[in-house]
Amino acid sequence: MAKFTSNTRPNQQQQLIAFLRDKQNLTILTGAGISAGCGIPTYRDEAGNWRRPDPIQHKDFMSQNETRQRYWFRSFSGWPAFASALPSPSHRIIAEMESLKIVKLVVTQNVDRLHQKAGSLNVVDLHGRLDEVICMSCAEFISRQAVQKTLKRLNPFLFEHGNVAPDGDADVPEDAALSMVVPCCSSCGGILKPNVVFFGDTVDKVIVQRIYQQIANGDGLLIIGSSLQVFSGYRFCRRAVQQGKPVASINPGLSRGDDIIDTLIRGNSDELLSPLAHNFY
Ligand code: NAD
Repeated sequence: MAKFTSNTRPNQQQQLIAFLRDKQNLTILTGAGISAGCGIPTYRDEAGNWRRPDPIQHKDFMSQNETRQRYWFRSFSGWPAFASALPSPSHRIIAEMESLKIVKLVVTQNVDRLHQKAGSLNVVDLHGRLDEVICMSCAEFISRQAVQKTLKRLNPFLFEHGNVAPDGDADVPEDAALSMVVPCCSSCGGILKPNVVFFGDTVDKVIVQRIYQQIANGDGLLIIGSSLQVFSGYRFCRRAVQQGKPVASINPGLSRGDDIIDTLIRGNSDELLSPLAHNFY
């Protein structure tokens, strides 16, 4: 059983503590906002507005060499900064809550692996992971780090820019993108794709059912840093509400679930969760 002491701030903090009290089978759903403080930007702002160029579509990546050239060109530049991002206080406290048997499962829409870096063990990477690349023909996995080396060997003119965009790529002038040589699978020549779910692709039904099952068996859903604009994440919020489970959202801004979520905690997750560290007993 989780109990909390708090010498803390107002309202939002108290709402969070009240929500967490006595939880022992909690599901957590995270989105890009939890990693914003780690230097990886979100797609949407606090009002829920899209603030990026159009994202890559799965069918375009699979059907157009030009789309793959642009993707790998930008990805080469952004990868080092993305790969070296470190977990936030929020990621660490969630890992602590798992070890204390408050949290049962973390479902993340992020592809940055920061929950695992923070020590969480039971994590579903709903939209995949950017540190892996998969051959779309023979399903062989290759590390993204190895692909980085191949990209450089095939395209010596590439350079690592240092900034990072939400997909782990970077905003760089694309003049040279169409002279890119895109690597293919060394075993079968198939198309290499980052092991992530691009827009327009779907999440494996078995994974979705596993999460529904956990929500049904669990004692609540805590959503952190997600606009819930992507149905893939929103459906878990809706399912938990339909089942009468307590649902809370930590977000400084608005989300698609705000009309149905019973506990809306407005704020930055690091500021709200940090005072809880080592404060469970
Ligand atoms: P989103 O960009 O649509 O929304 C981000 C949300 O985070 C916003 O509602 C914003 O108000 C909130 N936010 C910003 N700072 C916050 C903070 N400090 N604390 C709490 N909340 C904060 O993100 P989404 O809902 O996750 O959906 C976008 C999709 O983009 C996801 O499916 C994901 O796959 C992908 N994505 C992943 C990463 C990553 O891996 N880090 C980054 C960007 C986008």
